[in-house]
Amino acid sequence: MEIFGSLIGNENIKRSLGSEIASSKFLHAYIIEGKKGTGKHTVARLAAAAIMCHGKEKVPCGECDTCRKILSDNCADVKFFDAFKVDEVRKIKETLYETSTECDYKVYIFNDAQKMNVKAQNALLISLEEPPENVVFFLLCTDANALLETVRSRAQILRTEPLDKKTIFEYVRSSGIASELSDERLNEIILCSGGSLGYVLDMASPQNANALIEKRQRALKLATALLSPGAEGYSFISSLSSLSREDTVETLLSVLTLLRDLIVLKKDRGANLCFFASRDEALSLSSKANLKKLTSFYDATERAINDVNSNASVMSTLVSLL
Ligand SMILES: [Zn+2]
Repeated sequence: MEIFGSLIGNENIKRSLGSEIASSKFLHAYIIEGKKGTGKHTVARLAAAAIMCHGKEKVPCGECDTCRKILSDNCADVKFFDAFKVDEVRKIKETLYETSTECDYKVYIFNDAQKMNVKAQNALLISLEEPPENVVFFLLCTDANALLETVRSRAQILRTEPLDKKTIFEYVRSSGIASELSDERLNEIILCSGGSLGYVLDMASPQNANALIEKRQRALKLATALLSPGAEGYSFISSLSSLSREDTVETLLSVLTLLRDLIVLKKDRGANLCFFASRDEALSLSSKANLKKLTSFYDATERAINDVNSNASVMSTLVSLL
């Protein structure tokens, strides 16, 4: 039975969690770990619907009342929580033994569980150990190591994976989302996404897309200025002095991704690229410096990000890169 048909990618989760739900052998607690935008909420929502749907042909059927409510986040028995402090967790625990309003199970989904402090995690621990019969927990987090070992050991850890560029491209094009974006622009956004479909969908609005592409162009110009220093480079860097601290850091982070591409190309001309859509453009820029110089630029850019984050002058940090 295909439980996660509408989940993009993430074959490992489709297989493991899918077969546990299909055979009604699911656990009471799961930790779903993955980068932002890689489908953690979708997995939890689909799992909740699959657990509660009474569909005959397939679950979740997507058509019954239960499915419709759960999949649109309108079901009283499937709750999302942002609970990072002990008092918040205690309040939630008080509701665990209340009878469910409309479904056979109650599903408690904790967002950003990596932000839960130690006391909050300890408060949840007993419930994870001995949950009421009809309760299933999902702790969604970007880093399972931020959770206590005692919490991790009481749940099964599932990991959502970044998607490859082609899968994201095909999904966005076939879904009709952002149809006004040209293929070229969509690809530029995907290149910045690190495999996060959520990021691409966020950025696909015309306004966000333009801001993102501007940011990318700025990173490219900055890296070009660094690799061919001279009066022109200096004047471009001067023009960046009006950027906010946040924009400067984001630009430098893009420069890091770009330099990473140039460095891997030195070792393997066919390597996968994260910043560049055009291999020729990347190769041409990569030829402007040897590996040692690129690596030292990479280190200097990392230092510059730390400096800007710790309140150093944006302008003097940028000039120090030259
Ligand atoms: Zn259903």
